[in-house]
Formats: sequence, C-alpha cells, structure tokens
Amino acid sequence: MTEERHKVITILVAAGRGLRAGGGMPKQWRPLAGRRVADWTLDAFAPFGPIVVVLHPDDMAVDLPGDVHRVTGGATRGESVKSGLTRAWALGATHVLIHDIARPCVAPSVIQSVIDALRTGAEAAAPGLPVTDALWTVDGDRVTGTRDRTGLARAQTPQGFAIGPIAASHDGFPGEAADDVEVVRAGGFEVVLTPGDEDNLKITHPGDFARAEAILARRKGPQMDIRMGNGYDVHAFEDGDHVVLCGVKIPHDRKLKGHSDADVGMHAITDAIYGALAEGDIGRHFPPSDPQWKGAESRIFLAHAVDLAAKRGFKISNVDCTLICEEPKIGPHAQAMQDALAQIMGLPADRISVKATTSEKLGFTGRSEGIAAVATCVVVSQ
Ligand code: MG
Repeated sequence: MTEERHKVITILVAAGRGLRAGGGMPKQWRPLAGRRVADWTLDAFAPFGPIVVVLHPDDMAVDLPGDVHRVTGGATRGESVKSGLTRAWALGATHVLIHDIARPCVAPSVIQSVIDALRTGAEAAAPGLPVTDALWTVDGDRVTGTRDRTGLARAQTPQGFAIGPIAASHDGFPGEAADDVEVVRAGGFEVVLTPGDEDNLKITHPGDFARAEAILARRKGPQMDIRMGNGYDVHAFEDGDHVVLCGVKIPHDRKLKGHSDADVGMHAITDAIYGALAEGDIGRHFPPSDPQWKGAESRIFLAHAVDLAAKRGFKISNVDCTLICEEPKIGPHAQAMQDALAQIMGLPADRISVKATTSEKLGFTGRSEGIAAVATCVVVSQ
C-alpha cells in the first residue's frame, strides 16, 4: 500500500454521558492527573494523524485543541460512530481508528500495531488480551457454572478499519453492537488480532481514575528536583600560627579570626547547601550568640547541612569551592581538602572541587587582610 493511498483518521467517540464513573459529569471531561481524561486520549492519538471527535450535542462548544474536527453524535453509539465515519470519509480517510475516549492510557505501540496491520492489507484489526482468570456464569450472588476461556480474548480499542468495509457494515447493521469489531464481522469481514495492553483500561468505575493516574505517573517517571545554592564567607587574619581551610590545618604566620575554627571554605560550602534547601545560613542554625557553638569545629555545621539535605529527600550532587587569598598557597593542599570534605559529607572526592585564586593584590584579600570563599552546591531529589 503506498503512502498517498493510505490516510488514517482517528475517530474518538466522546458522545456518551458515562455517569457511572461518578463526579457528576461525563467521565471524558473529568480531571485525571491534572488534565481532563479526553486531553490524555487526544494527546495519545495526535502523532497518528487527523482526529475527529464525536461529541454530545450539549458538548459541541467544549474546549478542544484547535486542529481536531468536531461532529455531533447520535442517540446511540452506533449512530455516533456513523457520524464520525461520514466526516472521516469527507476528509479523505482510507482507514479509520475508532477509539473510546475513556481509554486515556493507550500506548503508542498499541495504536501502531493496529495501523501496521491495516498497512499490510488487513480490512480490520483490533487489540485484544488473553483471558487469564477463570470464567464463571453467575446468577445474583451465586456461581452457576464455569466457562472454558480457551480461545477468548478481551477486546480493546483503537479498532482499525478500511473505511469502505466499516461504513458499509454500519449501514447494514441492525440494532446496537458491543463494538465495531462486531459490526464489521457481521458485514462479512475478517478482523486481525493485534497486541493489547493491560494499561489500556477503559475508565468505567470511580476506582479506575486512581489506576489510570498511577499508570500515567509511572510512564512519566520520577520527577527529578534539582536545586542549587551559593555561599560566601570572609574571615580576617589575626595573630596566630596556622589556618584551617576546608578541614585541613595549614601552618601560617597568622590565623583566621572567628567564633569557631574560622574555616572560611567550609562555612561557604555549608551556606551553599543551606541555600540550595532555602534554609538560610549557618547563623540561623548555629546562632553566634549561643555560647555552646563558641569554638565549635566547622565540620559540625557541614554535617548538619548534609543531614538536613538528606532529611529533605535530597542528595548532594556536587560542590565547588573557590578560596580567594594571596596566602597561604592552596594548591599543595587542595587534594587533602577535597578528601577531608568528602569524608565529612559522605561523598566521593570527585564530586567535591576546591580551588583557589588570588585577587591580584586588590582589595582586602589582595592586601592579605583576610580570606574570602565562595561555594556552589547542587542537590538532587532522591
Ligand atoms: Mg564564617
């Protein structure tokens, strides 16, 4: 079959009132995972060509994407399908897919298998699933017998047809059929069975909404939440014989002045983590006015921030810290700093960067009055 002779149009049957599903409105207009049931179904078929939506007369003004064709349905499903077929014919369809709009979780592969069967010459094709449960006959609340499930399938949609056979079959069909496969078979045509999908449920009862939402959420995958924070800190020099930078003690002719060990690099990193969590800064969690934190090691602050990230459901992706000073020289200690931070943070050292720059003798860092540090941290939901 050549491409120009092959035009597939989808007919979505949306004229039913479908009040069994609850909610006081037809199920196709009820919300599902933040949109209407119909919107999910329309999206599923959009990649496969033009769409004709068969609507109840009361719904003709309903909001739908601009490029779908609307037709008014009839009093029965059969009449509604016929309205859709008439429009599809007028639009030049060679083949139609007829689908229940209340099957919003239909997978592209299910649709494509039906189209493939039509492309290779089938006059009709439809997805079905094997019956795995035992089958009973019942009368009220009593089981009256069993039925052999061999050779049975559960019917799904979209059901696909060459337009001539399905239109002729509908014209000649008396009464109401369960679906269009029944109609086309009554017209004397063969129907090819294609693979169905358990997720392709028809929303019928109130509980079906929760099941459909779970399917759509699973398909979307987990939503990754990525956040970034920055930190900046400055400490002045005073008399002393060493500095502590990013957890490493470095001999120096002065020390950094501050309440704790004055580890300016670790403070900047800690503030970057708090920043990513929108949790303020070290001062909020460890007030300098509180004597219990006087002289506290900075690793306590950093460990607290890391722990807070974990409690909020985030893992730290990476940290980058730049120390700004003329002295001491940072390069020889950078690896030890990364290792020390990695140990406190429980991260591989290759997710932690420590580097340094001078400020070309400009400003307070250039005059060696103190050390500044900036840090960036990215956290990712886990
Ligand atoms: Mg500080």
